[in-house]
Amino acid sequence: KPRIFSGIQPSGGLTLGNYLGALKRFAALQGGEAETIYCLVDLHAITVWQEPETLRRNIREAAAAFMAAGVDPQQSVLFNQSQVSAHAEMAWLFNTVARVGWMYRMTQFKDKAGKNTENVSLGLLAYPALMAADILTYQATAVPVGEDQKQHLELTRDIAAKFNHDYGVEQFPITEPLIEGVATRVMSLRDGSKKMSKSDPSDASRINLTDDADAIAQKIRKARTDADPLPGTTEGLKDRPEARNLVNIYAALADQTPDAVLSRFEGQGFGAFKPALADLAVSSLEPITKRMNDFMADPAEIDRILGEGAIRADEIATPILERTKEIMGLLRTR
Ligand code: ATP
Ligand code: MG
Repeated sequence: KPRIFSGIQPSGGLTLGNYLGALKRFAALQGGEAETIYCLVDLHAITVWQEPETLRRNIREAAAAFMAAGVDPQQSVLFNQSQVSAHAEMAWLFNTVARVGWMYRMTQFKDKAGKNTENVSLGLLAYPALMAADILTYQATAVPVGEDQKQHLELTRDIAAKFNHDYGVEQFPITEPLIEGVATRVMSLRDGSKKMSKSDPSDASRINLTDDADAIAQKIRKARTDADPLPGTTEGLKDRPEARNLVNIYAALADQTPDAVLSRFEGQGFGAFKPALADLAVSSLEPITKRMNDFMADPAEIDRILGEGAIRADEIATPILERTKEIMGLLRTR
């Protein structure tokens, strides 16, 4: 049976990029033929420093964002990673399968570690092995992610293939990445060459799901652009990354193609396009922010939902972990 797994780090407030590239699609994938399992990957978040009280709040807030965006904890399994110990255990097993050279090649590691790799956590380097564990502990067949996670997904496939080959088994599926739509890489509002990220030091670079209407309108108004009017087709956006980004955001929010958006705004400047985009962003995000706040008003209920999700996740993960240990020759006597 097909099984979808994906996760988001509670490493800060979620952004429009997370919503369009991940959350919105997570919700849309529910109720199909595949089982859906969604995880707040708190063990990934701590690969860079997190203030404990802030992290706890961010985990609850991310859970609220998932549900506000339409992830239904009845239809999907929704939980936080650190409550299901199979993830960390499987990650250790995969640390012995993955090669160090694979890890150093990851562009996310290079970006997040910067030049001084001596002083970053070992976890930041091992991150992709834990991500492979997240996915393969459920034998997930497909993973909806943004474009930035493509390389990690390939590494997950490499780990699965090497494990299967080394032990002569078919224990793990070769998972398919689902990178679909026009918003698989929403860019920073300040720099058209960088993706929008919740951990970007500049708050003006992103739209947060907790931003109010004024903040959203102001960030879009100040978003970097060129001075040319919009072209009639996406062909004309080729060398205009900032313009392309805003058009793609509009298209994703409106569930239209970028060409359809351009046919409406052809010849208009950003003085006209930005307010239209701001209105659309506000009307799309306002109900989500409101639902998030409603969920956040009852943290005990969020905790209950995450606890229940963890039990369901554990039931799927533990037998697969146990079988994996057995394959590797780790003696099981109880
Ligand atoms: P961080 O800066 O802490 O890494 P992030 O914003 O990159 O945070 P992640 O938790 O790393 O968020 O990623 C969660 C999901 O959101 C992944 O599937 C990722 O591909 C997707 N995603 C992240 N940023 C974007 C973006 N700018 N556009 C589209 N999808 C995105
Ligand atoms: Mg990220």
